[in-house]
Amino acid sequence: MSLDIGTIRHEVIPCPLKVRSNPGAFSITPETSIEADGASLEVGEYLAGVLHIQKGNKSTSGGRIVLSLDSARTQLGAEGYTLSITPSAVEIRASHRAGLFYACQTLLQLLPNGRTLACAEIEDRPRFRWRGVMLDVARHFFSKEFIKRTIDLLAMYKMNRLHLHLTDAQAWRLEIKKYPLLTRPLDRKAFPAMWEGHYSQEDIREIVSYAGARQVMVVPEIEFPGHSDAVMAAYPELLCPTHHTSHEGGGNHKEYCTGSEKVFDFVDGVFSEVVTLFDAPFIHIGGDEYMGTSWEKCPDCRRRIEVEGLDREDTRELETLFSKCLGSHKKYLLYRYMMRRIARMVVDRNRIPILWDDLSWQGDYPEKSMVVQWHYQGLFDYANKATTVCNPATQAALAGHDVIVASATHLYFDYFDGGRLIKRLYEFEPEPEDIGGNSEQHFAGLQACLWEHPQKKVDGMLFPRLLAVAETGWTDKSLRTWDDFSTRLESHLPRLDRLGVRYAHTEEIATNGLTEQWKFSASLFKDWLINHCMTGAGTYEVRVEFLQGKATISGALWTDDGHEKPLEPFKSKADGSKIYRFDILDFKPDGLYSVRLIFEGDTKAECQVKCTVRFLSGTTK
Ligand SMILES: [Zn+2]
Repeated sequence: MSLDIGTIRHEVIPCPLKVRSNPGAFSITPETSIEADGASLEVGEYLAGVLHIQKGNKSTSGGRIVLSLDSARTQLGAEGYTLSITPSAVEIRASHRAGLFYACQTLLQLLPNGRTLACAEIEDRPRFRWRGVMLDVARHFFSKEFIKRTIDLLAMYKMNRLHLHLTDAQAWRLEIKKYPLLTRPLDRKAFPAMWEGHYSQEDIREIVSYAGARQVMVVPEIEFPGHSDAVMAAYPELLCPTHHTSHEGGGNHKEYCTGSEKVFDFVDGVFSEVVTLFDAPFIHIGGDEYMGTSWEKCPDCRRRIEVEGLDREDTRELETLFSKCLGSHKKYLLYRYMMRRIARMVVDRNRIPILWDDLSWQGDYPEKSMVVQWHYQGLFDYANKATTVCNPATQAALAGHDVIVASATHLYFDYFDGGRLIKRLYEFEPEPEDIGGNSEQHFAGLQACLWEHPQKKVDGMLFPRLLAVAETGWTDKSLRTWDDFSTRLESHLPRLDRLGVRYAHTEEIATNGLTEQWKFSASLFKDWLINHCMTGAGTYEVRVEFLQGKATISGALWTDDGHEKPLEPFKSKADGSKIYRFDILDFKPDGLYSVRLIFEGDTKAECQVKCTVRFLSGTTK
């Protein structure tokens, strides 16, 4: 499985820019010396440790591995490197430590089992500067050891960003000394996830330092203004004073009051500790899926609109846009005010604010902020109750913001396991075609996001498909071909086995159909991926049965790669149960298919619904 001499075949992921194979081989023996000094010493020691080579070997008989840093070699960028393997020496050169580190990763991949390296000349550099993964450590706590192990796997595949989603409605995981109650909620029944654990400031320093040595930057996310129920359980004074009377049901509805200065004091207190813990130049401030449920009735929020003159600007366009979806554009004005002010607080601390793309409706992101695109054109936006009309990544880049592409169509990893639809993910091009001129430089890269899964499921959700993301982020677009990647991917599965990674296996189609049950009160928005039961073109049936309670089905459609199509009602029963059918004329094996259902129930009574989707017949109309 190693490099074939004389050809350019290799199994390195991500694929390097240039690989030239030469005859001969370099053998690593106990006498091999590793030569590194000054700034390259740390990487040299890392390599010696991984290869079990004694430091300080001076013998020339055992061959030399030489690491040298030359800050003038800038043509391959800070992360690029050259790696030269000859029978007598391995020479690694880079302008920065990151380049040396990545050369070592390539070298280690060329040595999966043995101690022999085929001779080669390699020149390499990444396509994108941001090659990331987001882990949702709020919904479920992941241990420090698990995070460190994930960092090792990211580093192996030259991924360089770990975004930690540290706060959400269910829990706040980051110790803040000024606000000790954040990590000690009072109500065990209401916040069971919170009792799983949190990161002490010492834990965070350890993770950040471990990641830094592996060229992975840890980016913290502290979410505002929504997804904040856990904060409000600890510090209810941050809610609107009118909140309790205008509360509209449970789950993800408690948001910071936009009118209270106490809130901004809190943000300041949190940031003052965050900047001492994380060395990343970024702080992600959330900003997704706000509801503004209590803002309009809150005297403080209303005063904010007046005092700041938020509606003094020309807001006619906003009124047209938001009267339909949010019920009023005032919520949007308050949301924008809050995100702008929090972003400015980040900038004042010499960090760059990052936001989810939910402000994309007007493209008016805060100054100097970076945007993570997750909405895609055609997606129904739950919070705004309308369809996203254009690609927010393009919009943000055109407005001069750096963009990280995390499109939910391909890079949200929570919908199905990591063994499915890898080809579709591999062939996803993160940079939209419609972008031109200078806007291209704003595409920082891409990021896979894994939401809502417990630690024990993470391996199976991330792997092996994360390798496709690693290659898209690193490898020149012209070198990416599925046939070549899929062959190399095969050879990495035994490597992942040896590392104890419990990756998902290739997909099996559920020919009997898929069934899921969901419980909710108030309302439920379900985007249900149905690829696992699809075999080809034909007629499919979707059965919706109420097992408990009753709700109105206010939306029913199916999507074909993000294109929404109505579900045709076939039969209805008196208890509200429904059967729908839809036809697929042109089946795409690598397409993404989902059924989207929106239920409006009773805020008090719990409702349980069972959904089944199955293939009826292959005769197409
Ligand atoms: Zn308020």
